[in-house]
Amino acid sequence: MARYTGPKCKLCRREGTKLFLKGDRCYSERCAIEKRNYPPGEHGRSRFSRRSNYRIQLREKQKLRRMYQILERQFRNYFERADRMKGVTGENLLRLLECRMDNMVYRMGFAPSRATARQLILHNHFQVNGKRVNVPSYQVQVGDRVAPREKSRNLLVIEESLKKYGSRGTVPYISVDMNTREGAYVEEPTRDVIPVPIEENLIVELYSK
Ligand code: SF4
Repeated sequence: MARYTGPKCKLCRREGTKLFLKGDRCYSERCAIEKRNYPPGEHGRSRFSRRSNYRIQLREKQKLRRMYQILERQFRNYFERADRMKGVTGENLLRLLECRMDNMVYRMGFAPSRATARQLILHNHFQVNGKRVNVPSYQVQVGDRVAPREKSRNLLVIEESLKKYGSRGTVPYISVDMNTREGAYVEEPTRDVIPVPIEENLIVELYSK
């Protein structure tokens, strides 16, 4: 499966915001955005000043796409699907992205980042409602229970990550039982509780041209 493998902090600096791509480092003062919040490259500092409407919309789309680490074609597919659904397209888009299995594993605290969550899923460490799922883009449904498989319950990376669950921020549409190490997607989120600092209407405008 193709994915971006270049320097992650550069992406955050390019977008001028934290995309939380590196786990614990993102919550520490070692975060590159804390130290150098301007685009990378020789002319990085001057780039922020040249902003047309198109550029602003484009950057917003890139920000969201990079946050969930999705390639352009797949992101476009999500948008088209969101557009066909009832309701507000931008909010539908965010909900679809939030339901991705790799995002769920990350939000439930089983992994420190979406990238690590993706790796763990690909290596067969997770199940949904008791059945193995090894597809990071799998769409989790309301009521589904996500958990590490029996053999993976005590993996160090999962244990260490769960210890920090809460310090990274929790969301009301997901519950986690620390004793059974099982997470549940309890309800569809409204936009105001999805912790993604994006103006999704700009992305809708970009794709509607
Ligand atoms: Fe982005 Fe995390 Fe790197 Fe900070 S540490 S720049 S949030 S990937």
